[in-house]
Amino acid sequence: MSVQPKAFSIFDLRGKTALVTGARGGIGQAISVGLAQAGADLILLGRGKDFTETETYIREAGRKSSIVTADVSDPRRIRETAETIIERSSVDILVNNAGIITRSPAREYPLEEWDKVLNTNLNGLFALTQTIARPMLERGGGKIVNIASLLSLQGGIRVPAYAASKHAVAGLTKALSNEWASENVQVNAIAPGYIETENTEALRSDPERRAEITGRIPAGKWGRPADLVGAAVFLASPASDYVNGHILVVDGGWMAR
Ligand code: NDP
Repeated sequence: MSVQPKAFSIFDLRGKTALVTGARGGIGQAISVGLAQAGADLILLGRGKDFTETETYIREAGRKSSIVTADVSDPRRIRETAETIIERSSVDILVNNAGIITRSPAREYPLEEWDKVLNTNLNGLFALTQTIARPMLERGGGKIVNIASLLSLQGGIRVPAYAASKHAVAGLTKALSNEWASENVQVNAIAPGYIETENTEALRSDPERRAEITGRIPAGKWGRPADLVGAAVFLASPASDYVNGHILVVDGGWMAR
């Protein structure tokens, strides 16, 4: 058996640049800061709101960050933005985190909302990934981490577009992995459980749904954005070089129940 001589460095991201979408707050912010603490510099992509907090934490971790203002829900425009990103920077890690959810019963679910959710969570993700991955494939190395959901595996309640989009993200993760694993580009996903962010504010402010959900989580509590950092650093680092097309559930045990 050969022993990895520098096992301590397999999570080291020094010298790497990570692009994270939707990095203003919530899970995207926690992952961005976690990647910075592991040594990466960051490109933070978002719709142009204030990134000061995320940037401050990254600076405190001793790393650099830059901002790209873009809306991922327009696949053609996001592809143009991606072209300018790869002209200027060498992206080693892409974290597709930006995502939205809208709740309404399926029989009256508005088609405008359907389009918005699918464009943001799936179509924009694919268009961005296709372009950002190109130089990774040419160089023969890269890491793509898609933020999926438990609703990549379950149907949820009154969130048909979200469930459809996140199932598709899981499928796309495997499809891209099958094409790109041999080029040393690892494509994987994280499926977070119930995490306390703006995305779940409506659920948490409904006492009945909140109690129902908490009662079903074996860990007995909702997750925090920081709970996703370990999985993200793992999937962004050499520690996961032989992990391909995997959907890594981080959910306090929800799916095991
Ligand atoms: P937040 O609502 O806190 O953050 C979502 C981020 O996505 C925001 O930064 C938002 O930007 C950005 N975003 C949304 N639409 C666009 C767009 N069109 N273009 C660019 N950026 C956009 O939610 P979370 O942190 O909870 O969610 C992050 C990811 O995790 C999502 O993909 C979500 O589906 C997934 N997830 C979350 C779970 C949870 O329990 N919280 C569970 C499972 C999955 P802006 O700052 O401009 O609003």
